[in-house]
Amino acid sequence: MQNITVIGAGTMGNGIAHIFAMKNFSVTLVDISETALEKAITTIGKNLDRMVRKEKISEADKAATLGNITTSTNLPEGVSNADLVVEAATENVNLKLKIFKQIDENAPAKAVLASNTSSISITKIAAVTNRPEKVIGMHFFNPVPVMKLVEVINGYGTDKSVTADIMELSKKLGKVPVEIKDYPGFAANRMLMPLLNEAFFTLYEGVAGVAEIDTVMKLGMGHPMGPLQLADFVGLDVCLAILNVLHDGFGNPKYAPCPLLVNMVTAGKLGRKSGEGFYNYKEGGKDLVIATQFV
Ligand code: NAD
Repeated sequence: MQNITVIGAGTMGNGIAHIFAMKNFSVTLVDISETALEKAITTIGKNLDRMVRKEKISEADKAATLGNITTSTNLPEGVSNADLVVEAATENVNLKLKIFKQIDENAPAKAVLASNTSSISITKIAAVTNRPEKVIGMHFFNPVPVMKLVEVINGYGTDKSVTADIMELSKKLGKVPVEIKDYPGFAANRMLMPLLNEAFFTLYEGVAGVAEIDTVMKLGMGHPMGPLQLADFVGLDVCLAILNVLHDGFGNPKYAPCPLLVNMVTAGKLGRKSGEGFYNYKEGGKDLVIATQFV
């Protein structure tokens, strides 16, 4: 595999393009938005500058990495020469199904089609293509250049040789891949989201406050970030959507989202990205300030 097309140039897409380009793959980064593409290249440039400053790479490495990336707003053209397509567009089922149909129609027959989805069934995505055996999940973690884990998710019909190729490729990127079967939440979110949900219930039921809950998990369990701070970082809307996928997918009430989370998302308190969640990010500067309603 040499030619990699990344669909979606947002938070994850720019990181995925960055790591492939650093390892000398030829990367085409596709987005519907020209602005998103420009922003992605700026972000990759800034992240590479940081690596130069830390003397992890040279100026020449930076230039070579950026030189390995081309951008496009034309998906059919962007995938026409791909050996591997990694889709990292907005998390929306109908959008992903539409994109995969389009990729399948335009990418070479031998190309492997991967999705970075956090919660959508790989088997469902594969079913809209004519090559379900070549469709796989490649679930990276944010920030992609830093986080080592890749969940490699086998759809119901994914060919074993495709899985082996993607495991090998992930290692070439300097990542640690783990092989997972395609069931709701895969493995990481299936374990993480119930933990976060229990933290929401602990707050909702008045057992402990925001600072106390996060302190318990940081100092008692050695977590680098407390669950409420982590939820703010992930996005409370994203947490709710994944809990709903687990709840619907398994039909088990243990995954029912905490009513406090539902209320916060309805009120537009989505965590860091909206400026407020369990913490207030507008007034807080660098220090975490607990949102007024929880004080
Ligand atoms: P984002 O909103 O930052 O970026 C999504 C990008 O997709 C946008 O630039 C948008 O313009 C583009 N897009 C929308 N429709 C498109 C189309 N038809 N063709 C091409 N581009 C299109 O989202 P993100 O956080 O980068 O998430 C992307 C994917 O990665 C999602 O499936 C998400 O579940 C998954 N994911 C996210 C995280 C995370 O922490 N953010 C972690 C792991 C996986």
